[in-house]
Amino acid sequence: MPAKASVVIVGAGPCGLMLANELGRRGVSTIVVDREDGVATAPQANATQARSMEHYRRLGFADEIRKLGLPGDYPTDVAYFTTYAGYELARHSMPSSGDAARFVRENEQVWNGPELPHRVPQSLVEQTLFRKAEALDDVSLRFNCELSGFVEDETGIIADVKNLTDGTRKLIRASYLFGADGAQSQVRKQLGIRYAGADASQRDFMGGRMLSIYIDAPAFYTELRNPKAWMYWTFNKRRRALLAAVDGRGKFVLQTQLKDHEHAETMTEEDAGQLFLQSVGADIPFKVTGIASWLAGRALVAERFGEGRVLLGGDAVHLFTPTGGMGYNTAIEDAVNIGWKLAAVVKGHADPALLSTYEAERRPVALRNTRFAIGFADSIGLYVPSPAIEDEGPAGEAARSRAGAYLEQHARKEFTIPGFTLGARYDASPAVFRDGTPIPPDAPSVYVPSAKPGGRAPHAWLKDGSSLFDRFGFEWTLLVFNPASPAAQLFAEEAARRCLDLEIVDLSGEPVAADLYEAQFAIIRPDQVVGWRGSISDSSDATAVFDTLTGRSMAEKNNFNPALAVEDARKRA
Ligand SMILES: Cc1cc2nc3c(=O)[nH]c(=O)nc-3n(C[C@H](O)[C@H](O)[C@H](O)COP(=O)(O)OP(=O)(O)OC[C@H]3O[C@@H](n4cnc5c(N)ncnc54)[C@H](O)[C@@H]3O)c2cc1C
Repeated sequence: MPAKASVVIVGAGPCGLMLANELGRRGVSTIVVDREDGVATAPQANATQARSMEHYRRLGFADEIRKLGLPGDYPTDVAYFTTYAGYELARHSMPSSGDAARFVRENEQVWNGPELPHRVPQSLVEQTLFRKAEALDDVSLRFNCELSGFVEDETGIIADVKNLTDGTRKLIRASYLFGADGAQSQVRKQLGIRYAGADASQRDFMGGRMLSIYIDAPAFYTELRNPKAWMYWTFNKRRRALLAAVDGRGKFVLQTQLKDHEHAETMTEEDAGQLFLQSVGADIPFKVTGIASWLAGRALVAERFGEGRVLLGGDAVHLFTPTGGMGYNTAIEDAVNIGWKLAAVVKGHADPALLSTYEAERRPVALRNTRFAIGFADSIGLYVPSPAIEDEGPAGEAARSRAGAYLEQHARKEFTIPGFTLGARYDASPAVFRDGTPIPPDAPSVYVPSAKPGGRAPHAWLKDGSSLFDRFGFEWTLLVFNPASPAAQLFAEEAARRCLDLEIVDLSGEPVAADLYEAQFAIIRPDQVVGWRGSISDSSDATAVFDTLTGRSMAEKNNFNPALAVEDARKRA
């Protein structure tokens, strides 16, 4: 007998685990399979962006994540050096995690949100996502289980899964299959979908074969005595590198680009240690605890994000160069986007046509995000300072000052990126309303708050000091700026008819929020995107709004009956 679930997810990386949380929280039966024997242990991504933190806050565990990684008083500066024992060229100062809550309020005009980015190894985030998913009744996580293939019929999917511990095979029957199975995605390959875009364009740095070297070196802090930073970059003729502090006590990851004569396959840990010492420029005690190789210079996006009942997300559909730190963060938002849609369709609250808006919304964002990221790779990777930066005397000082000026402006662009993380929009989506107002400008370093439907809901601190986002419901939210209008009642009745959870938030006494939303009402989708704003005069208007937001307007058949669909979904469950 095949195992049964509404959704089977292939891959327990950040994308698959986040989706499991989104589905499990909504009571959708979900099986996650991963061929490894547990979640990843390599730090890999070190930047959790503000938007991902907002989603962790929505799920109730942002504070837990904020406590992971660097100590609470450790600065998250990005600093540039000739070598770590040599000259400091530039420094972009950023607050410690203990200071994040104060900083984000005081810099509201830059960050417009309740959460700052956080510097934490991906492995620790994954462990949290895993624990949260594991605790959900409707989620089953199965490690050492590899997807071999799948077939689709009219009613669903049958996934063929091999247990790598005992070699047995198991079939899983599900309504939908989601491939979150990374860069080598078996699911994408079986669908015959290819990536398109720039693959490993060469640069002096961040363009070619890279080596990650995991290092224990507490002496880095005691013997070099540089002011602490989260990231330390080097510029010299011998070894360009980037060292990220993992725990603030002595664990680091060094990223360096391999030269033509250096080969990842034959590199020993001893050889890798020499690369670390070249970047330090002095002999300090250390231990290499692991190495891994990867390719920089990529900006690849899949031609399609799925087919039929099979959908794809994360690295399976977009491969980044990690400058800007957006690969995993884009994967998290993929999971959030498809999570509420899959749940709504499985429960019969929305038309299956809604699922096609996943690609319509997320693919343009993947193209945008990979483009911004590769721009940062060009800015840092093609920059070659004068070789005189290591010289003593006035010529060396002048060269260092020129390099410092360049790197300071680069750091501001790459590491203060509210526009990049908060500003992605779904303007072409059929599941949001177009209200004819201008699309706000899109630049990585500037986020322009806008309640034009299709973008992240703009944030306001309310009069009692609380965050507007904490007032949103877990599913749909109606923001009310004109309580005298009967529209709130009409929307409430329409939502009830469709079995949609609608939180009604009266903001009539909140002038700051009213100025941001510029309307009598706004509907916020479960992913905190503005779906609609304006006012309505009768129940048919409320019907039309929800028809669009739940995909019914797109459905080929015009006989979608929410009550019957819910009943049908219950029977199938
Ligand atoms: C050096 C480096 C630094 C990075 N820094 C950042 C950063 O700062 N910020 C950022 O946002 N991103 C960063 N990234 C990118 C980030 O690590 C990835 O984008 C992220 O891991 C993608 O998550 P995912 O869930 O899509 O895929 P993955 O993390 O690759 O997970 C895929 C999972 O699928 C499983 N799997 C694969 N095939 C099968 C199968 N057939 N059956 C069962 N299971 C299968 C795998 O075992 C794996 O667990 C960095 C990447 C690198 C290499």
